[in-house]
Amino acid sequence: MTVSGKPPYDPANIFAKILSGDIPAKKIYEDEFSLAFHDIQPQAPVHALVIPKGDFVSSADFAANAPAELIVGFHRAVAHVAKELGLEETGYRLISNMGWNSHQEVPHYHVHILGGRPLGPMLAAFP
Ligand code: AMP
Repeated sequence: MTVSGKPPYDPANIFAKILSGDIPAKKIYEDEFSLAFHDIQPQAPVHALVIPKGDFVSSADFAANAPAELIVGFHRAVAHVAKELGLEETGYRLISNMGWNSHQEVPHYHVHILGGRPLGPMLAAFP
């Protein structure tokens, strides 16, 4: 954390490179707030990722520090992408991993959209 409470953002992370165009991605949708692309290792028949345009490490960073217009625009883009992928009728799951316990791998806030078949229980057996 910085003094202001904003966590440091690594500009070399893989999604930053996708946003800058340095690394290719299978793009689904883009607008002024967001970029959506297919996950490189899909965990369901449809597995998309949506990322905001901005230096946000996680959902917590995004909620605390993004301008309201970006928060609204980003969440509208997530719903739009799910609809464009044909998932609205059958349903889908949104996942956003945040931090260590969640196994967040890429330190740029992102939402997974998963669908295309019944997805089963939300988590592996608990406890
Ligand atoms: P998370 O564990 O929530 O941080 O998820 C990161 C996701 O990014 C994983 O599902 C990876 O398969 C995916 N991923 C990593 N590198 C790429 C890439 N170059 N293009 C698309 N998806 C990627």
